[in-house]
Amino acid sequence: MDFDLIVIGGGSGGLAAARRASEYGAKSAVIESHKLGGTCVNVGCVPKKVMWTTSRIAEVLHDAPDYGFNVDCRGFEWSKIKSARDSYIARLNGIYETNLEKASVSYLSGQAHFESSDTVRVGDKVYRASYILIATGSEPVVPQIPGAEFAITSDGFFEMERLPEKVVITGAGYIATEFAGMLHGLGSEVIMVLRKDQLLRGFDSSITQVVMSEMKRSGVQFTLNNSATEIIRQGSKLRIELNNSPAIDDVDEFIFAIGRKPNTKGLNVEVAGVELDSRGFVVTDKYQVTSTKNIFAVGDVTGRVALTPVAIAAGRKLSDRIFGGHSGAHLDYENIPSVIFSHPPIGTMGLSETAAREKFGDDIKIYTSSFKNMYYQITSRASPTLMKLITVGDDEKVIGCHIIGDFADEIIQGFSVAVKMGARKRDFDNTVAIHPTVSEEFVTMR
Ligand code: FAD
Ligand code: NDP
Repeated sequence: MDFDLIVIGGGSGGLAAARRASEYGAKSAVIESHKLGGTCVNVGCVPKKVMWTTSRIAEVLHDAPDYGFNVDCRGFEWSKIKSARDSYIARLNGIYETNLEKASVSYLSGQAHFESSDTVRVGDKVYRASYILIATGSEPVVPQIPGAEFAITSDGFFEMERLPEKVVITGAGYIATEFAGMLHGLGSEVIMVLRKDQLLRGFDSSITQVVMSEMKRSGVQFTLNNSATEIIRQGSKLRIELNNSPAIDDVDEFIFAIGRKPNTKGLNVEVAGVELDSRGFVVTDKYQVTSTKNIFAVGDVTGRVALTPVAIAAGRKLSDRIFGGHSGAHLDYENIPSVIFSHPPIGTMGLSETAAREKFGDDIKIYTSSFKNMYYQITSRASPTLMKLITVGDDEKVIGCHIIGDFADEIIQGFSVAVKMGARKRDFDNTVAIHPTVSEEFVTMR
């Protein structure tokens, strides 16, 4: 054998698994066809967070005069933040490579595919390993409509050389919501085309109602129950034909943000006996084992919760189990907190009210609080905060914890520890508040 572990895909999950395996003394290798760090570092969380912060700064600049500052904002240079962002990511790529070296993980650059259940080919080289991990991630879905080649996806968003004046975004999930907020915050005219009538279906409806009404109030336009049927290039602009309303003209960018598909095409998993589901995701059990017992999969390619910390945790637990002697180690996919970097941001953990009612009927009790954050008491701009706790049973165990409002992105992590530990409402109540903060409301709700 050439290696104990070969990981296909040098993104969040793959790098974490390989490095953890190496800590246990396993001889491991990572094969990466593109850039180390994968989606999160190159075209996901990291550059997105930079742009979200940029648009938050625009909001703060707007509020600064209300706080007594004589601010003279002479404009915004997209090229400056893009170049700073790109340099930061290039630094991260280098850090990831150095970290592999330090961890004694071999880095093989190239596109991998299976030759058998223990053999992988990269270019003209073939490698054998006792265990192989598929961590190839996912890519954006682009529907087959005429003119789709004129549209971009989240990948193209990060290549944009200037702030578009007019943008149409189709989709209703994390990416559509985040991109609409960021672009609008920086000054683009944003029109969202939703095939249904709501953003972020599946999340708690109190929260999604607030995010949508707040986006509308701030000037994001929505066209509901509608779909793009054709994209037509007209000089330097685009015309977007819709099935349910007149076309939208003079569009600079059209962004598809309608979900992602697994990177399993071309992997040749069939020769290794690895089963895919009907959408191409790798089928795994709770230990991340595929239908071939020495081959595993983690991260987006499994079709489970598509978040970076989930891929990392699944990869580390896997190596703990295989190489670290932790026989039962596996990721618990229940109660995973997450943040949508909208304007304002959303933090969410556990069941929505609808899901809780479906599961527990009338045995649930809901606590909500909505208020104007102290920050906005002296500004002309105001952004709402809404918090919600969902409890079950006589002892009011907290099974859902949701917040939309400033700082939600930082607040939810701490409360998710409490929920994961099985906290009851009275545990929240027994915690002394920190005043004056937004988060104190979670421990003072009546
Ligand atoms: P990836 O990180 O995508 O890594 C897979 C790697 O495999 C890639 O580098 C790819 O080049 C490589 N590869 C594929 N096929 C082969 C092959 N045959 N041979 C060799 N290499 C191959 N998650 C969060 O938690 N927070 C966020 O704020 C967040 N924001 C996001 C914003 C955007 C715009 C997007 C698109 C995603 C965001 N995500 C976020 C999701 C997060 O990026 C993914 O869940 C995470 O990157 C998945 O990790 P992974 O290891 O499964 O795959
Ligand atoms: P999502 O799965 O979040 O949302 C896509 C949505 O688009 C669907 O829920 C659906 O909503 C709508 N949609 C699907 N197909 C079509 C279609 N043909 N036409 C119009 N609308 C359609 O996918 P994203 O691409 O936004 O993000 C992918 C994943 O990346 C996320 O699920 C998340 O796991 C991760 N991510 C995480 C982030 C974070 O942690 N902050 C940020 C960005 C991404 P409906 O059915 O209501 O129409």
